Amino acid sequence: MEREAGGANEERREATNGGPVEQTGVRRLDDGLWMLDLGFQGRSGVVAAYLLAGGDREELALIEVGPASTLPALLAGVRAAGFAPEQLTALLVTHIHLDHAGAVGSLLRLAPAATVRVHPVGVPHLVDPSKLLASATRLYGDRMDELWGEVLPVPADRVAPLADGESIAVAGRVLTAVFTPGHASHHVAYWDGVAGGLFTGDVGGVRMAGTDYVCPPTPPPDLDLAAWAESVARMRALGARRLCLTHGGPFADVEAHLDQLLPNLEAFRALAADALRDGADQTDLARLLHDRMAAELGDPDPETLAALEFATPSAIAAPGLIRYLVKRGEATAPR
Ligand SMILES: [Zn+2]
Repeated sequence: MEREAGGANEERREATNGGPVEQTGVRRLDDGLWMLDLGFQGRSGVVAAYLLAGGDREELALIEVGPASTLPALLAGVRAAGFAPEQLTALLVTHIHLDHAGAVGSLLRLAPAATVRVHPVGVPHLVDPSKLLASATRLYGDRMDELWGEVLPVPADRVAPLADGESIAVAGRVLTAVFTPGHASHHVAYWDGVAGGLFTGDVGGVRMAGTDYVCPPTPPPDLDLAAWAESVARMRALGARRLCLTHGGPFADVEAHLDQLLPNLEAFRALAADALRDGADQTDLARLLHDRMAAELGDPDPETLAALEFATPSAIAAPGLIRYLVKRGEATAPR
């Protein structure tokens, strides 16, 4: 695939920080590749989708679609990149959490030629999101609508399960589905071996643009640290030149980024195990995790810390770690 001369500058800029988010919320990363900032909860840099275009018939694909609450921003982003949402043929989601895939049902109504691709475990939850919504409601309570919007079911004939290692021909390129459990058992990363880009979803961590700290998002219910470690090894072996995060955008310092992920995950596990042993409850642990995130960012401006909190809320990370530790007999559940 042809690369433009500007690409080298872009990569250099990303080596030091995530690069600026344009006012429009659309940032061209490469030939036929855009990052769409979805402006989640009025903030830039929190949730992104990636738009791919190319091929003989100007095919259009998305990696991640974001929540239903940011569908207008997603559609505006597609249009600002010069396309129409009706042109979409493939919606590739890394997993079914609402901040990544919540808009698929709504988007399919606007894109009649599009099909959703997801891990096989995710398929029934997109077709009937009732269980997914019930478990999210236990976490988010009366903020569900404000955060995620209306989640519509996906018609069964418009979603197809992925296989591990499957080659997916979309938008003039071939992506590989890389099963990468850890953050969620059904997590898939997408690898563009020609361009060297790895779309990491949440298994690549969360990192706000312009910062170095890679924060592992640890929500319930199926956090698995051993699986996550294997997934990091898998991602490392690909030799990516760029990581495209859903929460934070693209980063070119791949090794340094991945080097941080597991130590930071272990730091969260140890912090949670110690806190529970000392009698902390879920609220205490959330506060400790928030303080750790603030400390790791160094001396952040309040907006950066707030954006990180929106991308991986400490109030959600805490029950994820507690559930993981209790399940493994490494802690007793707080009152
Ligand atoms: Zn996420």
